[in-house]
Amino acid sequence: MAASSLTLGVLDGDDIGHEIVPAAVAVIRAAAARTGLRIDWRPMPIGRRALDTHGSTLPEGTLEALGQMDGFILGPIGHRAYPKGPGAINPHPILRKHFDLYANVRPTRSYPGIGCLHDDVDLVIVRENNEGFQPDRNVVAGSGEFRPTDDVTISVRVITRRGSNRVARAALEIARHRRKRLTFVHKDTVFKLGCGMFVEECRKAAEDYPDVTVDDVIVDTFAMRLVRDPGSFDVVVTTNMFGDILSDEAAGLVGGLGMAPGLCLGAGRIAMAQATHGSAPDIAGRDLANPYAMIESARMLVEWLGRDRGIEAAVETARLVRTALDAAIADPEKRTGDIGGRTGTRGMTEAIVAAIG
Ligand code: ATP
Repeated sequence: MAASSLTLGVLDGDDIGHEIVPAAVAVIRAAAARTGLRIDWRPMPIGRRALDTHGSTLPEGTLEALGQMDGFILGPIGHRAYPKGPGAINPHPILRKHFDLYANVRPTRSYPGIGCLHDDVDLVIVRENNEGFQPDRNVVAGSGEFRPTDDVTISVRVITRRGSNRVARAALEIARHRRKRLTFVHKDTVFKLGCGMFVEECRKAAEDYPDVTVDDVIVDTFAMRLVRDPGSFDVVVTTNMFGDILSDEAAGLVGGLGMAPGLCLGAGRIAMAQATHGSAPDIAGRDLANPYAMIESARMLVEWLGRDRGIEAAVETARLVRTALDAAIADPEKRTGDIGGRTGTRGMTEAIVAAIG
């Protein structure tokens, strides 16, 4: 594939995924047409529909095919509603593990007028993605959670030097391109070994980034400061479960889950756009879902690939989408109801595409 083009997988996911993933593709496609970026889109079945058509929620050959691409857009997965059966697996942990997507980058920005609790939020939480307390992905086989007797459950948290160091480096790289400040969030006062190792590795990694100012905050203090003074943070790096909780808290500050995008980065060169929210079955198929998080996730993917591969047209495509998103969000006629607007998924998507021109 020529250096000025990208090959991107498109996996709708479940429920609102069938509305917001096509919205993301339409917006990126419109911007790419303006900049001359060539994108080879590769739609692939996944989730409940794939179970019906291919007998598996993650059909055979999917991982190999994705491995040949630059990146992919993954819609939200509604695995909790899958019928019990051998083909009905949760594709999330498999994708994250297979592509070693260890850094989950979750930005939060406030937009005036949409009911944000603060108007000065502009931060990024970088969540370690493949170890920590998450029992479905912190071990190679089996599960990191088990029940030796009816009365006892043990959940194991995995923290490694390598995992901590590399997620810290991913966060430092991001901080370097922003306001050059990074906060390590942990609880080493109690988890002296686990969080202690995490912070130690963050500090070691930061030695290679003298241009980035670092500090560290205990997780409970951070949760409180995030509500009271979110403008005091730029980039934050933390372990898996803390990051999961804190990024939803951050989304709550700026209008809810529809405003919570995400990008998963890994050891390889493949990246995955994935909004923070779930598949929201309660609003699926009703033109109610806010497409912002999914569109912004796809935009981040294109921007990251553009920078990583040195494709200026991709960076420019991301810039165009950013401006169009901002314009749509500023107008209540062009944004969805969850953020105080008066249109639906389709109306908001059309407005963004129209703003691209
Ligand atoms: P998961 O555990 O898979 O992340 P969840 O149980 O946290 O999922 P979500 O599916 O994320 O739940 O949705 C929680 C609620 O947030 C939904 O019921 C829906 O009302 C709202 N929501 C989520 N995403 C959106 C969106 N894109 N637009 C509007 N509302 C949304």
